Amino acid sequence: MRNQANLRMTRQRRVILEELRNVNTHPSADEVYAMVRKRLPRVSLGTIYRNLEILSTSGEIRRIDSGGNLKRFDGNADGHYHIRCLQCDRLVDAFIELGLDIDEQLKGATDFLVFGHRLEFVGLCPHCQPAPAAPSRLPNVDKPKPAP
Ligand code: ZN
Ligand code: MN
Repeated sequence: MRNQANLRMTRQRRVILEELRNVNTHPSADEVYAMVRKRLPRVSLGTIYRNLEILSTSGEIRRIDSGGNLKRFDGNADGHYHIRCLQCDRLVDAFIELGLDIDEQLKGATDFLVFGHRLEFVGLCPHCQPAPAAPSRLPNVDKPKPAP
């Protein structure tokens, strides 16, 4: 009995992990629930929450709780940054390298024992950016003259 329960738990956890690794949308627990239910129709939201907790504690996934309205999850647990749309809350990977060791720099600036940093970029995603002005309304004074 107990073994059966454990096996089911393991399978559910594996499906949750697979679903998370298949997307780069950083879904919330509710969204993970909707994804996993397509494969495991009888899974409960509580099971999703419990397994997301276990997977993030073990470091197989990453919980993202900086900024935004929702706690989200990332199937890619490798260190990387994100940029969030201030209008629609979309969260997108931002694979950049910071040129400076910012944690090292902070050590001289505070008395804290520094463990790391949380950094989130913000902006407007392509869907939420205002449409560019129609070309006919742009002043033409700055247009380069064609070479003679
Ligand atoms: Zn947006
Ligand atoms: Mn990510």
